[in-house]
Amino acid sequence: RAKSAGGNRFELADPEADARAITRHGLTTALPAALDRGEFFIEYQPLVHLGDGSVRGAEALVRWLHPQHGVLGPDRFIPLAEHTGLIVPLGRWVLEESIRQAREWRERYGAADPLRINVNLSPCQLTHPGLVQDTVDILERAGVAPDALCLEVTESALIGADDDLLKPLRRLAEMGVDIALDDFGTGYSNLANLRRLPVSVLKLDRSFTQSMQQFPADPVDLKIVEGIVSLAHSLDLAVTVEGVETGAQAEQLRILGCDTAQGWYYARPGPPERLHDLALVDATG
Ligand code: C2E
Ligand code: MG
Ligand code: MG
Ligand code: MG
Repeated sequence: RAKSAGGNRFELADPEADARAITRHGLTTALPAALDRGEFFIEYQPLVHLGDGSVRGAEALVRWLHPQHGVLGPDRFIPLAEHTGLIVPLGRWVLEESIRQAREWRERYGAADPLRINVNLSPCQLTHPGLVQDTVDILERAGVAPDALCLEVTESALIGADDDLLKPLRRLAEMGVDIALDDFGTGYSNLANLRRLPVSVLKLDRSFTQSMQQFPADPVDLKIVEGIVSLAHSLDLAVTVEGVETGAQAEQLRILGCDTAQGWYYARPGPPERLHDLALVDATG
């Protein structure tokens, strides 16, 4: 009985799984034309200094305005784009468009304390030979200094990375581009390994922020965050926290020594004009 039940499981049709596969297939084949037609757009989420509440920059988060399915988040299509290699031209477009936006912010607020831009990189972009030159060209064409850019790479993409993989990141870092380790704390990386990586920012994963929700927060989590922050600072790395949804979390993370925060408490990702408003309010008091 058990055996036949087990056998049946594989024969049973799963209409939902079929529908998902069909959608995936449809989205995958639609990706290249979508890029040509300009169906992608970018939302920006502010990065806020925990000490004084000022807006320091924003993370670029890509979306797809699909003609039938409406707005799709990156989790729906980035994995598909990675699978087909379209992530390389798509990622280049995201970089170009966000740097153009950074340039516009710069023109609006002057270059004294310019808003910086964070852009996510997928592992496939890291291994693409054009990464460094493309980035240099895009920055030069826009007239934006490399230190206005921060590239975010997930911790898991760099686990066990050999020197070949790190070389382009190292070259970008030498030019003044910041490299952030995204979703830090989820990848079980060896902390001592951090010294080897050309990173200047740790982005603490949302799961840590979530555990600051209860009051008092879990004492073990507090200790862990405290330890990460002190290690990061001793290695000259800045700490950004993601997923801050409440004022209590922000306060807790500020006390723990985190430098910068990002999350719905400050602003959801939105159109670039929203950042104009936030930064303007900030600049005028
Ligand atoms: P990520 O880089 O860790 O980005 C943070 C994600 O957390 C974003 O999801 C953001 O909307 C969400 N978030 C921000 N604040 C809060 C909060 O307070 N609470 C909660 N619950 N969520 C918050 P999103 O926009 O769906 O992006 C998901 C992931 O997709 C990103 O995670 C990033 O890894 C990837 N991604 C986004 N844009 C790009 C891109 O241009 N290129 C590549 N390669 N990946 C991208
Ligand atoms: Mg990110
Ligand atoms: Mg992140
Ligand atoms: Mg994350």
